[in-house]
Amino acid sequence: MERYDNVIVGGGLAGGMIAQEFRAAGGEGSIVILGKEPHTPYHRPPLTKEFLRGEKPDEEVAMHTRAEWQEMKVELRLDTTVASIDPAAHAIELEGGERIGYGRLALATGSTPRTLPGATTIRTIDDSRKVGELLAKGSGRLGVIGGGFIGVEAAASARMKGLDVTMAVPEDVVWERLFGPRVGGYFQKQLEQHGVRVLTGTSQLPDGEQFDLVLAGIGVTPNIALAKDAGIPTNSGVLTDQSLLAAEGVWAVGDIAEYDSVIHGRRIRIEHWDVALNQGSYVGHAWAGVEQGAYDVVPYFFSDLADWTWMEYVGPAGPDDAVDVRGSMDDDDFVAYYSNPEGRLTGCLGVNRSDDVNAAKALIARGAPAPV
Ligand code: NAP
Repeated sequence: MERYDNVIVGGGLAGGMIAQEFRAAGGEGSIVILGKEPHTPYHRPPLTKEFLRGEKPDEEVAMHTRAEWQEMKVELRLDTTVASIDPAAHAIELEGGERIGYGRLALATGSTPRTLPGATTIRTIDDSRKVGELLAKGSGRLGVIGGGFIGVEAAASARMKGLDVTMAVPEDVVWERLFGPRVGGYFQKQLEQHGVRVLTGTSQLPDGEQFDLVLAGIGVTPNIALAKDAGIPTNSGVLTDQSLLAAEGVWAVGDIAEYDSVIHGRRIRIEHWDVALNQGSYVGHAWAGVEQGAYDVVPYFFSDLADWTWMEYVGPAGPDDAVDVRGSMDDDDFVAYYSNPEGRLTGCLGVNRSDDVNAAKALIARGAPAPV
């Protein structure tokens, strides 16, 4: 049985970051990334933005070239599916039966998009390339189901490229569940002002209308079956302690990590690029022997609607937290502060307000109220 000192299951950003940062922090010993996709680890944010619109080539989406991974002495085993974990034996088994031993194991298995019959999704670089073929034509009809991140970003990109775009969104406005009706309404107005047709209160595109492609952005399911089947505690994700440790010798990072957050005082699980990046980095450093204390990065994410507007957010706020909008939505220059019933700042969304969002991040970390 082959054995590695460090095994990472999942070849996305979180997994890639563990390996990269392990080496950057001076980590020695063998390390392998086992990835299901045929591609080396890459960044997903461009898949609904610049890459989808044909503005960014493959090599700028990839974390590193194969040669760079080799130089770092990080082994990549791509097109490889892990079938099971045996934590007691410190071993995993691949589809096909091969067993691999490990010293330390990280689960960075990400999520699988929910699907709808007849609709495509955007999760992988191959998905984005396929939808991008329609955008490259500069005309045609795109139907979008779901008003979350994929739906909003892809709809904006498609409209920017000249497509006729119709969205079906179950909420009253896009992003309502995340940011509330007023802030969600700002982003919906952006879409509508640029010609996207947004049908709210429905999950259905209009009967009888023809679309060249229908895209579903209706959320994802975290890939936690491997952990669950191995007896590692799970809930909506893989449960970890404050240092992302899920079981003896096993860490979880990225979309699947439901971690005990010292900042929030509860377990949270966040499906965003920056969290994958920071958690991967944290575990890479831990594996290299760097003393760090608990994982305490305030979750951050950003999104943009074509080249019309972009936002940044730190949080996450609770669904019932009060929102206080300051600045001017009409001038695309505002910040929204979210506070819990105890008056503690829990979230902050800024449009063209990076300084305010950064300042809010520090306040959230300290459990302070919103600035006056
Ligand atoms: P998402 O952001 O979770 O949004 C999914 C939306 O679809 C929700 O508003 C959901 O409403 C709605 N929905 C659920 N079932 C539906 C149905 N049958 N018909 C119509 N709408 C339905 O998920 P996503 O947009 O699919 O994105 C996938 C993942 O990629 C997420 O983890 C997301 O965070 C990530 N992502 C992030 C970014 C970024 O950070 N900028 C960009 C792209 C993707 P309910 O909540 O009411 O169910």
